[in-house]
Amino acid sequence: MAKILIAEDDRLVAGMLKDLLELDQHTVELAHNGRDALDLVCSFPYDLLILDLGLPEMEGTEVLNRYRGRGGKLPVLILSGRNDVNHKIEGLDLGADDYMTKPYDVRELNARIRSLLRRQFVADVVSNVLKVGHLEMDTARCEVLKSGEKLKLLPTEYALLEFFMRNRGRVFSASELLERIWKSDSDASENAVRTYITRLRKKIDEEGKASLITSVYGLGYKMEEVDNR
Ligand code: CA
Repeated sequence: MAKILIAEDDRLVAGMLKDLLELDQHTVELAHNGRDALDLVCSFPYDLLILDLGLPEMEGTEVLNRYRGRGGKLPVLILSGRNDVNHKIEGLDLGADDYMTKPYDVRELNARIRSLLRRQFVADVVSNVLKVGHLEMDTARCEVLKSGEKLKLLPTEYALLEFFMRNRGRVFSASELLERIWKSDSDASENAVRTYITRLRKKIDEEGKASLITSVYGLGYKMEEVDNR
């Protein structure tokens, strides 16, 4: 699961792409012009920017140029109707990580997105499976096993758990989790984050044992690094 910003002025194309990525459990936000895209990508933590070049108010290349100029490090996938080599070279020179032309093949797009996200996350590159203690998450199938038994998780619970499993050992405050997992325009509060963590612990933890997600007093939460061997 990742938080992805799509900058695309064609609302039909943007909507289809959003639906497609949400099927893979990603959190997706849309910007319909270049100026909004630049504002959003500079203000909120995303994991990937999918950028159209022909955008109103500010061209995609300008968005990319300014974003990289401000030190933005996010992976950027240009998805453009312009398929001549000069545009590709320009996009890549400006710091895009990949370039695909429309119309795109859905499977190829998915594969490229997965590849960019793998580079972005501190993850096990050769496998889709994350393991922490008695938990095993197959990120390709969006499945979680607790001591071998399949768990039923709500999408936000899954997203939260995946985030913790990918970043085990690191402490995150409720407000950081809110920024990373929830949509930027969500009404959710830090209390909602705490409620979700309580519910998630009930589902993932083994009775009578310490929780895999520990509270760090005054700082936030972290997933314990458990030796799997
Ligand atoms: Ca366009």
